Amino acid sequence: MEFSSKLLENAVNEMSQLPGIGKRTALRLVLHMLRQPKEHTNALTEALSTMRHQVKFCKSCNNISDVELCEICSNPNRNEEIICVVEDIRDVMAIENTSSFKGLYHVLGGKISPMDGIGPHDLNIETLVNKVKEGKVKELIFALSSTMEGDTTNFYIYRQIQDYNVFTSTIARGISVGDELEYADEITLGRSIVNRIPFENSLKI
Ligand SMILES: [Zn+2]
Repeated sequence: MEFSSKLLENAVNEMSQLPGIGKRTALRLVLHMLRQPKEHTNALTEALSTMRHQVKFCKSCNNISDVELCEICSNPNRNEEIICVVEDIRDVMAIENTSSFKGLYHVLGGKISPMDGIGPHDLNIETLVNKVKEGKVKELIFALSSTMEGDTTNFYIYRQIQDYNVFTSTIARGISVGDELEYADEITLGRSIVNRIPFENSLKI
């Protein structure tokens, strides 16, 4: 792609770093911004920059938050004895939308994936295991996507905590293996949390 302006080229290059955005789409977006009043671009860049600098991760569950302890963890009406283990904030949002779960979450920040060089120590697993060891947790619900990486991650955590007095369950999904949690429809997802099954039953031994 030949550019008549270095400034334009830089903007397109940066924009095309985003997932799913190729050079052509990046160019279209940048040209769109050039046609808009400058305030629009300022508002966008400021929102992104402020978020990047000020956003926090909840010190208990690692959910993205504006304060140290997220709204869910600090809500006295939530049941802190049940923790739903999820991959990222999109899963928290999807499950919250179902209004079927009143416990707390633990956001791992990904799944164990040797192919991508992601091991257990790259994820927020230790803090979860510590919560179980402290004895306040009665049930862990695994709600990772049912991919090989999701299963590996569930099993790794299960092995770490199986000797402690905690019940483990997994959400019973009516969606096919490999579907990502965030795409499950709300009713199916809500039902799958209510009808969760003991984790041991999900092991294919
Ligand atoms: Zn939290």
